[in-house]
Amino acid sequence: MLSCARLPIALGGAGEKVGRRVSNPPQVGNLPYKLSMHDRLLAAALAAREHAHAPFSNFRVGAALEDESGRIYTGCNVENATYGLTVCAERVAVLKAISEGARKFPRIAIAADTETLTPPCGACRQILWEFCGDIELVLGNPGGKTETLRLKDVFPRAFDASFL
Ligand SMILES: [Zn+2]
Repeated sequence: MLSCARLPIALGGAGEKVGRRVSNPPQVGNLPYKLSMHDRLLAAALAAREHAHAPFSNFRVGAALEDESGRIYTGCNVENATYGLTVCAERVAVLKAISEGARKFPRIAIAADTETLTPPCGACRQILWEFCGDIELVLGNPGGKTETLRLKDVFPRAFDASFL
């Protein structure tokens, strides 16, 4: 099931602060406390995107993975001159979370500066399925466009350990 919405806040591009408030709620860090987890996660993905190392494609992506306790693990794409060693933002976030002991993940946000929102690539879909199952995907761009769907929507009949 798909749903589309506009974020209630303007989320920044290069050099801008994310999570700028539009009203005057008290601040927690640099994010308004009234933001939903969905919006906090997307803001974290947009902020992570600022760290992308993408000198070859200039296609910068950020991801933010939420664990069951609400902790957020971020990632950005990290390219390599050999191209084949490039790692996507989603996989960076998942591997960071796994390496720190997290195991259950309800949601991941993925942000790229594209009008048609960018879903995870095939390799990331497989990794997400392995570690997160049918996770909620929150796609977004710096202009505030968002879409929420499930991994199964973009990755039907997944291969996993049940086939081994
Ligand atoms: Zn990927």
